[in-house]
Amino acid sequence: MTMNLTRRHLLTGAATASTALALSSLASPAPAQPGATPAAGRLPMLYDRRVGEHTLTTILDGAFAVQPGMLTGITPEQRAEALRAARMPVEGPTPIAISAHLLRTSQGLTLIDAGAGSFFGPNGGRLAAALAAAGIAPTAINRIVLTHMHSDHIGGLLGANGIAFPNATVHVHQAELAFWTDEGIASRAPEIARPSFQRAQTVMRAWQGRVSTFGAGEVDLGGGLTTVPMNGHTPGHTGFRIASGSEQLVIWGDLSGIAALQFSRPDTGLVFDMDRERSIATRRRIYDMAAADGIPVGATHLPFPGLGYVERRGDAFAWVPEEWRYS
Ligand SMILES: [Zn+2]
Repeated sequence: MTMNLTRRHLLTGAATASTALALSSLASPAPAQPGATPAAGRLPMLYDRRVGEHTLTTILDGAFAVQPGMLTGITPEQRAEALRAARMPVEGPTPIAISAHLLRTSQGLTLIDAGAGSFFGPNGGRLAAALAAAGIAPTAINRIVLTHMHSDHIGGLLGANGIAFPNATVHVHQAELAFWTDEGIASRAPEIARPSFQRAQTVMRAWQGRVSTFGAGEVDLGGGLTTVPMNGHTPGHTGFRIASGSEQLVIWGDLSGIAALQFSRPDTGLVFDMDRERSIATRRRIYDMAAADGIPVGATHLPFPGLGYVERRGDAFAWVPEEWRYS
């Protein structure tokens, strides 16, 4: 066989039958919106990684195009310089992944966020197909924990006939749930934020009676999961520490997602960060923790499968992707 085992073959699954890859991959059409995803045409959907006795699966739900005007805390010149250094296009939007995570432990299956569902049209909502490809029925999910309640993290909680996971309960920070379901706050929100409130309320109405909240501080949710407070992006934005034996890994939602910009310039944010100053302070605090302790991290929007390490570089940081684990 003369075929080279290239990264593209790995991505499209052409090599998986003959190699012992831990990667599960399935071809899928790229979302239709130009610029929203790389032009590879076919993308991986699933990536498994062990954390001690547990298995963490990153699921690619879609992609989101970050327009230059959505950035804060960085000048156009600084943006261009950082993107050029990362060999990324300067013109136009910067695409970022939308991922969800599945944690398998001896106690059950926990989803960490649920992707965009139908809220982002063809640019999201691959979670259901990815779970089916992995042989996981929606009824097998017994718990869902949310980093926060923006549309690209909760849309997948809705299915064609109501809730998408009929045997699951949803766990979210009490400040997050209170904020998005407060009619007064929703009515005073600027026009551009209205859809976010409407979507959050639609999802929570569907899940009524199946939602429980956790509070401030680090809360042990059981089953190897502990909350890591990361508020700033939203009032109850939360990360999760997965621990098993001597191993751990921290997942975050929107602490950062643009690898080329938000480590070398950690003050770079997005207009969706609701408390800008606090989100910068939180980003630096969590980066410091991850760098000092050498903890592997994973994130919704970092380049799929979004797993890696944070390293300190003077007053800034660097993102060091983890090599795929092939066995
Ligand atoms: Zn968000």
